[in-house]
Amino acid sequence: MKERNTRQKEIIYDILCSSNNHPTVKELCDEINMKGYHIGQATVYRNVSKLVSLGKIKKFSTVDGVEHYDANCTFHAHFVCNCCHKICDVDDVCYDNIIAQIDKRFCISTVSVMLEGTCNLCQEIIDK
Ligand SMILES: [Zn+2]
Ligand SMILES: [Zn+2]
Repeated sequence: MKERNTRQKEIIYDILCSSNNHPTVKELCDEINMKGYHIGQATVYRNVSKLVSLGKIKKFSTVDGVEHYDANCTFHAHFVCNCCHKICDVDDVCYDNIIAQIDKRFCISTVSVMLEGTCNLCQEIIDK
C-alpha cells in the first residue's frame, strides 16, 4: 500500500513538473487521466497537499479564490490574463526592492506577487 502511494505521488509530481500552466486539482486530474493513469481527485488533492507541505511544489490562489499548483519553487511572480485566464511566470521581478520598502516591523517569510492584465496574445486580438 505504501509503495502504491509513493508511486502515485511521483506520477502527480512528474505531471505537474511537465505542465507549466499552473493547473488546479481538477485540471491536474484531467491531465493525469489523459496520460492513462487513473488517480481519483481526492487522492490527487491529498498528494498535492503533501507535496506543498514537503516544499516540493507551491500553491497559490488567484483573486477568484481558485487554488493553483506550481512545480516551479523559485521566487517568481505570476501574471494572470483577464481575457484568457492564462497564468504566466514572471521571473524578472526584483524582490529585494519590494522587501526593502516594507516597514521594518514586519518580518517577511515569503513574497507572492500577482499581476493582472491582458497577455500579449489577447492584446493582439483586441488590437485587430
Ligand atoms: Zn490572454
Ligand atoms: Zn509559477
